[in-house]
Amino acid sequence: MAAYDRNEPSRTGARDAGPHDGPGAVHYSDDPRDFGWVRENVPCQTACPAGTDIPAYIWAIMQDKHGLSYEINREANVLPGVLGRICSRPCEDQCRHGWPGNGEPVSICHLKRSAADLKDRGHRLNESLYSPSGKKVAIVGSGPAGVAAAHDLSLMGHDVTLFEREEQAGGMLNYGIPEFRLPRDVLHEEIHNALRLGVDLKTGVTIGNGPGETPLAELRQGFDAVLLATGCMAATELPLRDDAKGGAVDQIEGIEYGFDFLLEMHRGAAKTVGKRVAVVGAGFTALDCARVARRLGAEDVTIHLRTTEEYIPVTKDEILEAKRENVAMLGLRTPVGLHSDAKGEFRSVEFVQNRLGGWRDNGRRKAIAIEGSEFEIECDTLLVAIGQRTDHGFLDDDVTLDSWKNANTDDAGMTSLEGVFAAGDYVKGASTVIEAVGQGREVAMGIDTWLMGKPRRKQSVRIEQVTEPLRERAFDFIPRNHMPTEEIEERSVNLLQEVEKGYDDGLAKEEAKRCYLCNLNYKIDVDNCIYCRACIEVAPKNCIKMVDGIEIKPDGTYGVLHETSEWDHVGAIWIDNNECIRCGACYNVCPTKCISITRNQLVMREFEE
Ligand SMILES: Cc1cc2nc3c(=O)[nH]c(=O)nc-3n(C[C@H](O)[C@H](O)[C@H](O)COP(=O)(O)OP(=O)(O)OC[C@H]3O[C@@H](n4cnc5c(N)ncnc54)[C@H](O)[C@@H]3O)c2cc1C
Ligand code: SF4
Ligand code: SF4
Ligand code: SF4
Repeated sequence: MAAYDRNEPSRTGARDAGPHDGPGAVHYSDDPRDFGWVRENVPCQTACPAGTDIPAYIWAIMQDKHGLSYEINREANVLPGVLGRICSRPCEDQCRHGWPGNGEPVSICHLKRSAADLKDRGHRLNESLYSPSGKKVAIVGSGPAGVAAAHDLSLMGHDVTLFEREEQAGGMLNYGIPEFRLPRDVLHEEIHNALRLGVDLKTGVTIGNGPGETPLAELRQGFDAVLLATGCMAATELPLRDDAKGGAVDQIEGIEYGFDFLLEMHRGAAKTVGKRVAVVGAGFTALDCARVARRLGAEDVTIHLRTTEEYIPVTKDEILEAKRENVAMLGLRTPVGLHSDAKGEFRSVEFVQNRLGGWRDNGRRKAIAIEGSEFEIECDTLLVAIGQRTDHGFLDDDVTLDSWKNANTDDAGMTSLEGVFAAGDYVKGASTVIEAVGQGREVAMGIDTWLMGKPRRKQSVRIEQVTEPLRERAFDFIPRNHMPTEEIEERSVNLLQEVEKGYDDGLAKEEAKRCYLCNLNYKIDVDNCIYCRACIEVAPKNCIKMVDGIEIKPDGTYGVLHETSEWDHVGAIWIDNNECIRCGACYNVCPTKCISITRNQLVMREFEE
């Protein structure tokens, strides 16, 4: 039975009525073409590293079912309230609403947060438990990858112990990201919910070879499988030295690695900065350092970038909010020297001017130094945030590493050590929370398969007949609803005050209506079509085409449409799902009712016994 298919009522039958409950006929498909259709046509879900069923959760918000929306999110990602605040949003970059001519992407991430914020206080969580397996799994590291894997493995019936060296769980969610972006009550509640079905969380325990630490060998002996989810816990070094001050940059007073600065602050240290703060780096850590520095009283905060802000791997909202907080961003410069004043105190950073070079593999640009263009910027504090890297010093047996010095794993997520798996930033290098969650879940499946000797679940496509368009054409003209934010004056003095305030239910519903519900598949039954062209007349786009042939690829996507305007050549009248914005206009006008709609969704199901 489909224990993980949210569209089926749970065994208690107490689940909220879902948008998919109704008269529509349902069938399940394992046909690669149906998987291909979803992959091609629901671009937001395809772009989400956790595979979140985005149109389904947005549709639930349209219907004011915030609890259901939260549960749909939670199936893919156990931390929806967290990700609804700080996700890097790869889905929004791909959203069909943002395609040329369609306007701006749907605020997918803000809607995820709405579901979390607006669900009932006594909301009931849906969990689907397997019987105990008798297997024991140790997980090292309680960041998003470790927590997601611990949750899934415990539901699968395994006895999970989660080891964390810090005093609290959460990894960089707790010790990296500042509270003005991620309130800790939201984080702690979701972690508690993820772990409460039987995960034994042991904080303050370091896995390693030092005094008082627990060696990995001990875990390998005491557990059937071990998962390493230890993140990227070392700051990337800035290769500059000041030998008069003891060498490496972090030994110079006034200079700190931004990653350590935030870590220490979140462990409870009272951090201070000077009046003029320079930050070098371009990622989440650099922006967080700059925004924290403003709140600690710095008057002049500047982020110095090697390329330009167009290529920074953080969300546009984050850049905007940093600028509104009076953080300056100056591009095309690389630090090449550090200078002290006559008293020997750190005084300035020397940069070389860059120009933009060719493209890197990661879609960003190279920076090329311009010879003889060096210049100095005076500052009191320098925060260096040029990246993080993995640290393998805690291992007592080597794992094979890739060229980036991250752990190498096979398709199931196993390292070169038998029974030792790895996930999250420890495998991918410094990446994102949603990638860590997605990989944590994926590797949990790999561990389960390895422990049980066979896979227990598989993905299918659930196809349901839908009897009305579910949207109105008017929804297509609703502009993107922006996130309400806290006043700037309030922010500048407060490290804890959350900047983004969340949509209320009215705004959430308005924004949800903008979603095209791309999982709806409009098709014309050519046998019943009378070629009256009524649908073509009302179509808002070039979405209905007369064709004399269509190439369907084996994976379900379609290639070239051979369009024709000559009636004697028309082989079919065809809805181009790529162009279709699911407005329903054609469905409503068709005199012969030969246009059908199905909702196509990826679901997890049990292998039949
Ligand atoms: C300042 C900052 C801001 C960020 N902002 C964002 C953002 O807005 N959006 C986004 O998507 N991503 C962001 N990121 C990136 C994101 O936080 C990471 O990609 C993500 O947390 C990785 O998850 P993980 O579970 O792999 O590792 P981590 O979250 O790093 O967790 C690893 C855990 O392992 C523990 N650990 C390590 N070694 C041991 C050991 N030997 N024994 C026991 N425990 C150990 C650590 O203490 C830590 O708790 C940010 C990162 C930083 C540093
Ligand atoms: S319109 Fe909706 S379903 Fe389509 S890509 Fe955007 S968020 Fe996803
Ligand atoms: S629903 Fe019909 S009319 Fe509307 S965009 Fe899609 S194919 Fe065109
Ligand atoms: S409105 Fe219906 S019958 Fe007329 S051309 Fe379109 S699909 Fe065919």
